[in-house]
Amino acid sequence: MTIPVENPATEELLGEIADAGEQGVNDAVAAARSAFNSRLWMGKNPSERQAILWRAADLIDAHREDLALLVTLETGKTLKDARGGDVSGAADAFRYFAGLSRNSNGQSVGVDGPFSVRADREPFGVVGAITPWNYPLCIAAWKLAPALACGNSVVLKPSELTPFSTLRLGQLLAEAGVPAGTVNIVNGYGDSTGDALARHNDVDKLTFTGSTRTGRRLMVASAESNLKPVSLELGGKSANIVFADADRKAAVRGALWGAFTNQGQICTAGSRLLVESSIHDEFLEWLLRRVRSLKIGDPRQDDVTIGSLVSKKQMERVLSYIHSGKEEGATLLCGGHREGGVGCFVQPTVFSNVKPEMKIAQEEIFGPVLSVLRFATEEEALWLANSTPYGLAAGVWTADATRAARMANKLRAGTVWINCYNEFDPAAPFGGVKLSGFGRDLGQAALDQYTTVKSTWTAQ
Ligand code: NDP
Repeated sequence: MTIPVENPATEELLGEIADAGEQGVNDAVAAARSAFNSRLWMGKNPSERQAILWRAADLIDAHREDLALLVTLETGKTLKDARGGDVSGAADAFRYFAGLSRNSNGQSVGVDGPFSVRADREPFGVVGAITPWNYPLCIAAWKLAPALACGNSVVLKPSELTPFSTLRLGQLLAEAGVPAGTVNIVNGYGDSTGDALARHNDVDKLTFTGSTRTGRRLMVASAESNLKPVSLELGGKSANIVFADADRKAAVRGALWGAFTNQGQICTAGSRLLVESSIHDEFLEWLLRRVRSLKIGDPRQDDVTIGSLVSKKQMERVLSYIHSGKEEGATLLCGGHREGGVGCFVQPTVFSNVKPEMKIAQEEIFGPVLSVLRFATEEEALWLANSTPYGLAAGVWTADATRAARMANKLRAGTVWINCYNEFDPAAPFGGVKLSGFGRDLGQAALDQYTTVKSTWTAQ
């Protein structure tokens, strides 16, 4: 069976992929297991593995424009976002984890008795990775680079909406010198191919980025198969909090790009803007001026800032949230409609007078829709920020360093940005709490995800 893949900005057919299904997954896992057992990758000197991962980063950079174009064609995002968010993010991850591949993290442990004990980190073996469509290249790199740095083999299933940039990454990894069978990419639908990977008894570890709904299903799949450990980076409904003493210009910029980067299709989107009452109206005026200046259109054009959503289904979903915001009585300040008759474009949309219990204040929309709430005190801001089931990220804009530290301490989120927003670096651990998942991508913390610890006791 084949699956058609569309360019969401033009609705034209880009190509077709095979649906691997259960048999394809079985073959890929067998190849990954055999590569792992043969120690073709794991058995290399750490410096050789480092050199190969570094070469992968160089190849990603060398193919920057082609990769960015692929990402733009399959996602509808702007070329600028594809270059920065996907291609640079992917290359950077491979460079960072190339370095960490020489860090075995073993330690000797002091115990009672005549023994010497070592606790060593070992790769799991075969890692299953399931990735979403919003940053297809970058998130694939966020999974592949640390898993490989730790010596694992990987079977990765990209979203069937955006398979091509990941397939190209697979080719570049082979060109960089990753041995055959160590990285396997299987295409297909989540319900069939993804589920087969999640249930496979010979997959030792599962890592996922995507919706909370699918995250729950993966936990069940693990529980009903071999109890493989699962790490989940799920959705969010992050609060971006602006106090009256904030640097107004920087905060407006942070609110704008916090909400509309990648058309709002980013798990950390600052989709709830909390503004202190005393500056609320003036701040919104500034913000709306910037929102109205955003240019929607052909994502390949340099001056376009808002591209297409990833699919018709996602566009309908976002429009239904806009409808619900209107129904529930929020005030629509701008946007609110599909743009044009072809492609999956939605106007950047801002609602004010949003109440915390409204759907647009509680649920992840994953589109260019910003819900603005006002607050009177620091306590109220904190309560509002923490009052969704999610806990991925939060932003705080204030000139008061003590207040910033207090807020960072009390916000229930995996990442807190102070006087900045949506900043990422492969050295900084990334992940959530509550319904935003558990486990950390990136940083030293990622090594914990892709290794298991073995204690070896030697009698003296
Ligand atoms: P999903 O979570 O369904 O998709 C993410 C990945 O999981 C895809 O590769 C998908 O494959 C796969 N998948 C889906 N179902 C299963 C399953 N039963 N077993 C194994 N793998 C599966 O996200 P959606 O595309 O449905 O998007 C819906 C919402 O999810 C968005 O509106 C947004 O709120 C949230 N989301 C959050 C992301 C994040 O970064 N945290 C990223 C993407 C979405 P396939 O594409 O074939 O379905």
